[in-house]
Amino acid sequence: MLYPNLEPERPVAYWRPVAGVRHGLEPDGPPFPGQERATLCGSRVQLGRVGDVDWLAPTCEDCWAEAVARRDARARRSTQD
Ligand SMILES: [Zn+2]
Repeated sequence: MLYPNLEPERPVAYWRPVAGVRHGLEPDGPPFPGQERATLCGSRVQLGRVGDVDWLAPTCEDCWAEAVARRDARARRSTQD
């Protein structure tokens, strides 16, 4: 990597509540209502409008475990540079 400090920090996931569960979305790009997106736990969800109460939904455990694993893998890579 030529300019490591200029690489934008990409999120490991975008978190969105869908049908009562907060899933991590693949970080392809920022989520918008109406999109169909892949989750870190391996399903596909249709994004809707998100209200304040929706954010109180419990986090999907599989998405969380995958996000933590990806974050740790990235941390290991950056310390090797
Ligand atoms: Zn999930």
